[in-house]
Amino acid sequence: IGYMIEPIQRMTHMSTQLQEGVTGFQRFMEIINLKPSIASKPDAAPLASVEGEIEFRQVSFHYEGHTQRVLKHLSLRIHPGEYVALVGPSGAGKTTFCSLIPRFYDVTEGEVRVDGIDVRDLDLESLRKNVGVVQQDVYLFAGTVMDNIRYGNPEAADEDVVAAAVKANAHGFIMGLPHGYHSEIGQRGVKLSGGQKQRLSIARVFLKNPPIVIMDEATSALDNESESVVKQSLESLAQGRTTIVIAHRLSTIREAQRIVVLTEDGIAEQGTHDELMSFDGMYAKLYAKQF
Ligand code: ADP
Ligand code: MG
Repeated sequence: IGYMIEPIQRMTHMSTQLQEGVTGFQRFMEIINLKPSIASKPDAAPLASVEGEIEFRQVSFHYEGHTQRVLKHLSLRIHPGEYVALVGPSGAGKTTFCSLIPRFYDVTEGEVRVDGIDVRDLDLESLRKNVGVVQQDVYLFAGTVMDNIRYGNPEAADEDVVAAAVKANAHGFIMGLPHGYHSEIGQRGVKLSGGQKQRLSIARVFLKNPPIVIMDEATSALDNESESVVKQSLESLAQGRTTIVIAHRLSTIREAQRIVVLTEDGIAEQGTHDELMSFDGMYAKLYAKQF
């Protein structure tokens, strides 16, 4: 968590200037302050070159202070470079599932493995460098557009920041801002649309360049027009990376290599869109409801 402390202090300091709503910020602080117990073991191995295989082995999980088990003996193996969609009713545990991969929480039972190694045996900082997350709420801090993208990799040069913005489809609108990459974001700075903020957060992940990417309802808060632009950026972000997508709108995940249907009882079914449609189970019902 060490590498995040500095920006966090800065964010706390500038919290009154935050462009984002209080809820998003609070949730972020909750995640950061989560558990002092989550730390690297003294002999933790740095994760060097990662293939991006993710494996859940008989994972059970409940939140501290809650008796209800969110995940129960869940097993799932995701191959390097695979594009997997997680769908299912709200509250099924999709976000919880994803938060176990970068160790925002630790499993109660079982294990989560990245490239065959239990994540608890990996150096936490290197684990998190290998996992990029794009979610519905975007956390921007008061500072320039450049600073905000560089948050994805504090050591990156200006040219790398620009290259990441180009890949995220953000360069065009950034160049249209009064001071380009040096425009200030925040209450006294420029006002960005939801789709623009989301493209900045995608640029951060491009800059970080992790082999594993999680997209949790990344387009859910956007109108149709911004959604289609952001979807293009997300599709290019997924190229060559292990990708887990959670999307409420099933139209966005039709092309997934594998769709996993998660319910409170566990994995109900999995397969491609066509397989699940012909199976005529839960996915087919969810799909019929939306169209
Ligand atoms: P989904 O993403 O599929 O909608 P979540 O993973 O967010 O589901 O939630 C799964 C269950 O865990 C829900 O019952 C939810 O209320 C509970 N839950 C989620 N986050 C927390 C938390 N931080 N503390 C306690 N319970 C939580
Ligand atoms: Mg969720």
